[in-house]
Amino acid sequence: MSVKRSLRTQLIFQYMVIVIVCMLIIPTAISELLDMQFRNFASERLRENESEIAELFAALYVQSGSWDICALLPMDADFLRWPMVTVQLTDEDGGEVRTYSRMSKREKRRGKSKENEPEILKEELIVSNRDILIDGRRVGGLRFLCVPFNFSPEGAFLRKFNRIMYYAVAFMLVTAGAIAFFMAFRISRPVLNAAKRAQQISRGNYQIEDKMESDITELSILIDSVDRLGSTLEAQEKLRRRLLSDVAHELRNPVTIIKSHLEAIEDGVWQPTPERIRLTVSEVDRLSQLIKEVERLTSIESAGHALALEKVDVSQIIEKAALVFDPLYKNKGVTLKREVEVDVAAVVDAGKIRQAIENLLSNALRYTDAGGEVSVTMKKEGGDFTVEVQDSGIGISDKDLPYIFERFYRTDVSRARASGGLGIGLAIVKAIIDAHGGTISVKSKAGEGSRFTLKVPRKDIE
Ligand code: ADP
Repeated sequence: MSVKRSLRTQLIFQYMVIVIVCMLIIPTAISELLDMQFRNFASERLRENESEIAELFAALYVQSGSWDICALLPMDADFLRWPMVTVQLTDEDGGEVRTYSRMSKREKRRGKSKENEPEILKEELIVSNRDILIDGRRVGGLRFLCVPFNFSPEGAFLRKFNRIMYYAVAFMLVTAGAIAFFMAFRISRPVLNAAKRAQQISRGNYQIEDKMESDITELSILIDSVDRLGSTLEAQEKLRRRLLSDVAHELRNPVTIIKSHLEAIEDGVWQPTPERIRLTVSEVDRLSQLIKEVERLTSIESAGHALALEKVDVSQIIEKAALVFDPLYKNKGVTLKREVEVDVAAVVDAGKIRQAIENLLSNALRYTDAGGEVSVTMKKEGGDFTVEVQDSGIGISDKDLPYIFERFYRTDVSRARASGGLGIGLAIVKAIIDAHGGTISVKSKAGEGSRFTLKVPRKDIE
């Protein structure tokens, strides 16, 4: 199993790796580059000096025609420039003529002794040879002994520069470490808080104690998503509890009635007359109605998939649905009006669209008292068709309006009424309309009726 590290440790570790790599590579590269440039420059200058000196001796040789020691005598070692220390003049056979040195007694007397120059051992000096040529003929040689680059002022400068740079790197490392710590903290804290919040949610604690904030977009989205997840789960949990108590409540009444009827018959208190049996059967009907409602729940899930799309005349779907409801409306004393545009073709799942409209008509009837009026309107609107179901019923309060499309949601008013489903009718309508790529909206005021509007694309029917 891999070793787990905290996000903060991981971030600090990564920042530091990047910083250390950059800090090692960049200063080392700068130092190497400078060293190379300085060395090239110094050796080029040395070569030039050597050539100049070789030319000087060649001129002297031409003047006297030989390595005349007298002609050479007046020369002191002034022509030797740093980093040259000594030059040995040899004749064409390699025999020593004279050696010039910057460390001569005269130099020292003049006070030019390089006191601030480092002590250099003879073996450390660098040797280079050069021929003295006249018209291409070798007449003698020069053997230079030079101070190595490291002891030169340029070398000293480079050493100093490197030292300062390493201090700067060390300072930057400490600063970068502090910044890395701060940055890692800024990223890890909201993530850890979001994780903690998710844990709380998993334990069933949905309440947000204090709202977390982050100015990093992705983290802000994460925090919001976790918070929304909490609220959604809380709402679902509430609805689930409500459903359970609804189902238990709805089941209890018919079961109690059936049981008491059957016991009374068993004990001989009641005769099983056809009327009593019918009464018992009507309670069984209530039970099966309830079971049917629970079964409808599953159709919410299936509404999204497996649409049996076909080209249909929407006007006929509406007419058929209204026709089914006509006797029910008549029984209750509610008028059902329709205003349906003819020949509105669309590619839809006819069965599902009909189910949606029936659910709306059933609700309108359920929540409208006798003497009220319900109208269903259908018309073509560009590439869509719209269906409106308007009633003059009890209406929906502003407090309930945002939730009525959620599963199992029932307003308190509808719960108090004897009639009523389990609060899934509208959730089914919404799922069906969503699956068709349409929209559903509602306008309602408590006591003034409601208007549900469906807008569904007719699709490429041409
Ligand atoms: P139910 O099966 O309980 O009617 P729905 O999902 O169809 O469930 O509706 C959810 C809730 O919305 C209902 O309980 C009711 O309070 C409210 N509602 C729906 N349609 C209407 C309407 N036409 N008039 C008033 N309230 C309505």
